[in-house]
Amino acid sequence: MVSNSHVPVSATFLNGYRTFSSQRLPTEQSRYRELAERGQSPEVMVIGCCDSRVSPEVIFDAGPGELFVVRNVANLVPVYQPDSGTHGVSAALEYAVNVLHVKHIVVLGHAQCGGIRAFIDKAAPLSPGDFIGKWMAMFVKPGEVVEQREHETMADFTVRIEKAAVFRSLENLMTFPFVRVPVERGTLQLHGAYFGVAEGSLFVLDKDAKEFRSVGQPDASE
Ligand SMILES: [Zn+2]
Repeated sequence: MVSNSHVPVSATFLNGYRTFSSQRLPTEQSRYRELAERGQSPEVMVIGCCDSRVSPEVIFDAGPGELFVVRNVANLVPVYQPDSGTHGVSAALEYAVNVLHVKHIVVLGHAQCGGIRAFIDKAAPLSPGDFIGKWMAMFVKPGEVVEQREHETMADFTVRIEKAAVFRSLENLMTFPFVRVPVERGTLQLHGAYFGVAEGSLFVLDKDAKEFRSVGQPDASE
């Protein structure tokens, strides 16, 4: 790994671990032991972005064993593809739903998403593999055109697409039979959320209204 800091990255990690082991671990040691013996049984799966500013455990103040998290560029869920390919998100989903029997799946989008930015800017490949370009391409359905609307500022367009990524992931989740069946049965609930990095604000998707509402708003309390 390369760090721009003058402190070696290994020292940064070790200092962090020392703080964890002297301050947080003592309060959670019994919980860790219990989780090691009994195994994990989180009720919530979070699908979030790799972005270092958007840590689900921090945002939801979660302790060990509480969140089953998969993170990728732009919090995307691919469509169900039972082919010969290797599918990391699908593998995590399969385990979360079929083994852990999570009751909730939260797709957590966020502001200032670099993956969405690259998609909007039609950024040049960062390597010959163009992994981000190919990954973000799944965002667009065949024949679909994603464009800035007339009179829409670039900032508004970006937020619209960041939120659209949450909608797309929720839509794609339902293409997985092992997700769709428990959702229709009522034993699994899908949720969308959007984190405003600058303010630390959280918006939760009202699926009926197809709108994100601030959790601070009175009518978003349910
Ligand atoms: Zn992101």
